[in-house]
Amino acid sequence: MAVDERLVQSIVREVVQKMQCSGGVSGMHGVFKDMNQCIAAAKEAEKEVRILPMDRREKIISIIRRKIRENAETLARMGVEETGMGNVGDKILKHHLVADKCPGTEDIYTTAWSGDRGLTLTELGPFGVIGSITPCTNPSETVLCNVIGMLAAGNTVVFNPHPKAVKTSLFAMNLCNEASIEGGGPDNIACACEKPTLETSEIMMKHPDISLLVATGGPGVVTAVLSSGKRGIGAGAGNPPALVDETADIAHAAECIVNGCTFDNNLPCIAEKEVVCVESVADELMHYMVNEQGCYLANESEQQALIKRVIDEKGAPKRDCVGKSAKVLLQYIGVNVPDNIRCITFFGKKENPLISTELMMPILGVVRAKDFDDAVEQSVWLEHGNRHSAHIHSKNVDRITTYARAIDTAIVVKNGPSYTSLGFGGEGFNTFTIASRTGEGLTSASTFAKRRRCVMIDSLCIR
Ligand code: NAD
Repeated sequence: MAVDERLVQSIVREVVQKMQCSGGVSGMHGVFKDMNQCIAAAKEAEKEVRILPMDRREKIISIIRRKIRENAETLARMGVEETGMGNVGDKILKHHLVADKCPGTEDIYTTAWSGDRGLTLTELGPFGVIGSITPCTNPSETVLCNVIGMLAAGNTVVFNPHPKAVKTSLFAMNLCNEASIEGGGPDNIACACEKPTLETSEIMMKHPDISLLVATGGPGVVTAVLSSGKRGIGAGAGNPPALVDETADIAHAAECIVNGCTFDNNLPCIAEKEVVCVESVADELMHYMVNEQGCYLANESEQQALIKRVIDEKGAPKRDCVGKSAKVLLQYIGVNVPDNIRCITFFGKKENPLISTELMMPILGVVRAKDFDDAVEQSVWLEHGNRHSAHIHSKNVDRITTYARAIDTAIVVKNGPSYTSLGFGGEGFNTFTIASRTGEGLTSASTFAKRRRCVMIDSLCIR
């Protein structure tokens, strides 16, 4: 039987790397005690990944996809257990979405111009080692999506995961390294510290071997990355409004909005966080939300109790409430409801902190607007200039266009639940890194690649 030369090389490489990377934490690929060791190991792996044939990269990605499917439930359970946020069923769906719809090497396209003076190509080349900071709200989904896209473009990556989600993030990262080894690539295509902190992230942001930074999280981390002096992709916070006008199918709007809002207990940054509804149909919308979509209508004193319980003195959502179900949040304020209650609602002004704050909880205040123009104005205010996501339920295409232009977000979903924008029940690819602040929008492999022009003069044009 002929010996597969590549396989032998990959085994040798693995053994040598294990010996070289003395900082490696046993049992987990890519995990080190120190950030400098992480970067050195990812840099070493990058020398091979950069020249790895596209079909080899794709093979590794297909193994990552298989491992995600095989481990979807484990990853989902681990995420909920470690962070105390979200729900297992929806997290399983999110992992299948990554496995099925996160683009690989097919996204590394070439642009060509040919003519009298020859042929010019723009090819997508790797940046090198990417530094990626990931959130606790999608702890494994973000890691997996980023590795698929970054590897497809020929990069390796060093992660600084959220300290509250390290176990889950490292488990996901380990799967990617195992896939690389299994597919004939190097170990350490993705690395991270055993104990990531703000200090390790600081080292990463300043390190000369990190050529691109990607931050997925709240405003603090995006600002930190954009102030680093390196090129940065900033996937920041949102507070997506769902606008409903009088032309919409109101029952359908209520169903879409509540489905989107309650998905993974409202953790996704794209999820409906409040509703702005034209006055003439506001009561009808509330009727459907409460009577057909499992919303609990909170009275004034319950709203005040919720404000106290879920928002801290600085106006930020309290960590122990983020990603909890409506039933649990209501229990926190002494209200017991049946299991079919999946969302909390009420009418309120846009300034109500339960409405204006990005809570990441299934709490969906409804703001009345006197007409469509007023609804647009209030929605734009509520989005806070994040330029992230916005949703609209209307049958009037001119109004939809007006809204999309005015709110100027990376995502605008029309007449559907927010998660359709992630490819779940909607067209298009999936990602969990939506570059709102820096404008790349939904990231994919090509986002993590450099544009490189390749010119041949007076040849190779055969027209
Ligand atoms: P977070 O901002 O608390 O943490 C995100 C990551 O940034 C963590 O790894 C954290 O340790 C790190 N971090 C925070 N401040 C930092 C600083 N000053 N310097 C360096 N690192 C820092 O966010 P989270 O609670 O984990 O996630 C929820 C937030 O992320 C929400 O605001 C949500 O909208 C946003 N989010 C955005 C996207 C997107 O694609 N745009 C995706 C998921 C989450």
